[in-house]
This record gives sequence, structure tokens and C-alpha cells, in this order.
Amino acid sequence: MKINKLNKNVYLKDGTIYDPFKQKSIKGNILITNDKIAGVGNIKAPAGAEIIDCTNLIITHGFCDIHAHFREPGREDKETLQTGAKAALVGGFTRVCVMPNTNPPLDDPESIRFIAEKAEETPIYIHPIGAITKGQQGKEITEMGAMKTEGAVAFSDDGFPLQNAYVMRLALEYAGMINVPIINHAEDIALRNDGVMNESEFSTKLGLTGNPDVAESTMVYRDLQIAQSTNSTLHIPHVSTRKSVEAVKEYKSRFPKITAEVTPHHLYFNDEALNTYNTNLKVAPPIRTENDRRALISALCDGTIDCIATDHAPHTIEEKEAPFDLAPFGMIGLESCFGVVNKVLVKDNGMKYESLIDLLTIKPRQIMGFKRDLFSESIPAEIAIIDPRANWTFTKDDIYSKSINSPYIGEELFGKIIYTIVKGSVTKI
Ligand SMILES: [Zn+2]
Ligand SMILES: [Zn+2]
Repeated sequence: MKINKLNKNVYLKDGTIYDPFKQKSIKGNILITNDKIAGVGNIKAPAGAEIIDCTNLIITHGFCDIHAHFREPGREDKETLQTGAKAALVGGFTRVCVMPNTNPPLDDPESIRFIAEKAEETPIYIHPIGAITKGQQGKEITEMGAMKTEGAVAFSDDGFPLQNAYVMRLALEYAGMINVPIINHAEDIALRNDGVMNESEFSTKLGLTGNPDVAESTMVYRDLQIAQSTNSTLHIPHVSTRKSVEAVKEYKSRFPKITAEVTPHHLYFNDEALNTYNTNLKVAPPIRTENDRRALISALCDGTIDCIATDHAPHTIEEKEAPFDLAPFGMIGLESCFGVVNKVLVKDNGMKYESLIDLLTIKPRQIMGFKRDLFSESIPAEIAIIDPRANWTFTKDDIYSKSINSPYIGEELFGKIIYTIVKGSVTKI
């Protein structure tokens, strides 16, 4: 990858321009002048403009990831805001929301300000998500109003499921008053017990402790019921089971304020992949059955699940080299995201490329209340340029995260980011 400052005039020539906000595809050009959109469509290049040939490429909005772990402060050996930003650029992401389970956690206005200020020095837009409870202990609600003022865009104790339903109720009520979503990692820790993979015939066969699908769906049901009764905005992260999909579907029909996301890895793998004991496939919630995977794909196609989010979770090699039972949960996911989801959804399941791009651009921005009309004139350029038909093998060289805990190394992916433009720079991948 190479990051360069944008010239005064940059002309994206002869691409297929897909505008997710207008829901329209056209053939044409985009002119960026002084880092801002100056024209879209049938426009001419001014003399001296830098020309980027976009023949056979799709030009669209920069992707937005509403669920990533950049580990700063506390575990800068795994990831920093700077290295996470580079991984994002390689994946076409211009905007990333970072989870607060850092050390210390982002649980007060000062820590939110720390991230917001440091984010300004990175080449992408980074938004902190604040902790729901102090120390992520699940007991005392944080100062949500003051944290929102400092830049928190949502609240979550991600990594730690909020077990106490009364605290969940209070959190939803407060967040409802200040109009931001609550994101609860839905896993009942008693039901999950010490499960390290999905509970099924495979967990028995592999001799690994199982985590049943109802550990997720019972808490999803609880959260949906409390959200509806408090009339608050609930976003459900990393939905992994058919039962959770059914719960979201049922509630969405009468309470449309609910939103949900799915990760690339829950769409790509099923639990049979764990027969290699690859610890990079140890994630929370776990990789589920083929039946669950099919339900997640259908839920994206019919709108039950609103968007794709990576849950990019870097860990050191030493930690991931531990036996399966002891290794930490999580995998990185920013660099591989588009090649993975484009392969599963567009190539294997016939989704239109426009619908997939919506799941990575306007849908996540809508959940977080970000600006969505990115191709109107004088908006700072936030653009991904994609080769939608590239067949390529994902390797270690494609990773710009500080950690390399990816199960996609050696996998054939479909579709690749070629350029990412954001904050006055163009990155050639
Ligand atoms: Zn989580
Ligand atoms: Zn997470």
C-alpha cells in the first residue's frame, strides 16, 4: 500500500459509479478538487488534473465499520489507532467505530476525548464507542451524556455481555434520551459456560466444550423486549444463529428501531472448519452450523440484518499459539472483508453488488447517524474504488494490522479494493 496526498484536482476516469444514497449506478467520472467532491457523472478533466483510470472498476462511498477493536490504550502491541487505520484503508474503510474494551476501558469523558483527539492524527475517521458501565463491570452506568459530547457515537460493554437486565433497562433508557444506540454483546454467560466453540456433534467429535446457540438467542430476546418496552434504540452486534435471526425478524415487524449486524466470518465459515483446531477461528460468539450460516445469508438478503461489521479483533501470535481452550477469542477482519463477503454473497448467493455495497456504506452510517449523501458537491471525498471480479489469494503480505490472527491466509477471495480516498489522501492498495 502507498498513501499519497491528493493533488489539487483528481479525476476518477471511466468507472461504474454506484451512489448508495441515491441508489443509482452510472458510467462516468468523478472530479475531486481541494479534497472535496466537485462533480459526478459526465464531466471533463481540468488541465493538469491527476487522472486515476477506473475502467472496469466500481467507484462508491468509502466503507464504514461500526465494530472494531483497535486496542489503544493498553495493548498497543496488538493494534494502535494508526495501524488499525492502515488495515481499514486496505479494506476500503474510511470510517471505523472502535469498541471501548481497552485497558483502561473507555468509560469516562476523558478517555473518549483521548481517542477522539488521537483519531484526528490518523488517515481515516475513527469514532469511539463508550462503555455502558464503569470499568465494564456491568453495574454502574457511565456518564453517557458527557461522553456523547466528547464524541462517543454509541455505548457498548462489548467483550462483556451485560448480564443484569435492570442495568440493561437503565442503559437503554438513558441512551434513548440522548438518541444513541446501545450495543450489547448478547451471550448469557451462565449458558455459555466455558464453551469454546458452537455446541453440536462437531464439538463432541473434536472434544471441545460447546457453547449452545440459545446462549445468544435468549439474551437477544431479552434485549429486544426491554428495547421495545423502553422505546429505545438497540443495535444487536455479530448475530450468529438462526434463532437470533428469527427473534430480530419477529420484533422488527412491530418495532423498527431495532438494528443488527453480522460479521464476515459468520457468513463465510461453518463449525466444520474448526476440525483444524485453528485458533484464529475461535471467536465470540462462535462460528455456528451450516444451517445458521444459511439463515444469516437469507437475513441479509431480506433486510432482517441491516449491515456487515468486521469485529476486527487483533491478538498476538503468542496468545493465538496457545491450545484451543486457552487462546483468546477474536480474529482480524478489515483487510479481508470485501473479498470475503463479495465471494459469499455476490458470487455464491447471487446478491446484487449494489445491495452488498449498501451493507458496507449507507446502512452502517444510518445506524450511527453519520452523513450518507457522500457524492453531493463540496463533501470531503470518502471513496472506495473496487475491482469486483478480482480473484486473489489472501496472504500475510495483505495484512497491515499489527496482528496477523486471520483464518483467511491462503484462502481464495473474490473482489478487491484498489484505491481508498479519504481525509485528503489516496491510498493505492
Ligand atoms: Zn462482541
Ligand atoms: Zn467485538
